[in-house]
Amino acid sequence: MSRADSSMAALVSSHRCVVCGRALRSGYRLRGGETRCLRDAVRHPAVVRRAFVTALVVGTVLTAINQGDRILAGDLTTMLLLKAALTFCVPFVVSTSGALGAARMGPDLP
Ligand SMILES: [Zn+2]
Repeated sequence: MSRADSSMAALVSSHRCVVCGRALRSGYRLRGGETRCLRDAVRHPAVVRRAFVTALVVGTVLTAINQGDRILAGDLTTMLLLKAALTFCVPFVVSTSGALGAARMGPDLP
C-alpha cells in the first residue's frame, strides 16, 4: 500500500456518521460539528425545523398569492387543495437542499 493509499484509508476510516456509524467519503457537517451521512443529515432536527418554518411562511404567502382569490371565494376543489399542498412542499425542499448544500463535505472530507 502506497503512502497516499494509507493516508486515504486513514481518512476514510476516521470519518463516520455520528448517528449510524457508517464510514464516510463525503458527508454533511451540521451544527455542533457533527458529521452525518445524507440519510441522517436530512433528518437532523435543526434542518427539519428550519425547513418546516420556511415552508409554513413561504408556502402561506405563495398560496395566498396564487390561490387566495379562489380560497376566499370558497371554491375549494381537490385540485386546489393539491396545488396548495405542493406549494408548501417547494420551500420545504429548497430549504432542506440549501442547508445540506452549505453543510456538504467531500468527496474525501476536509
Ligand atoms: Zn448515518
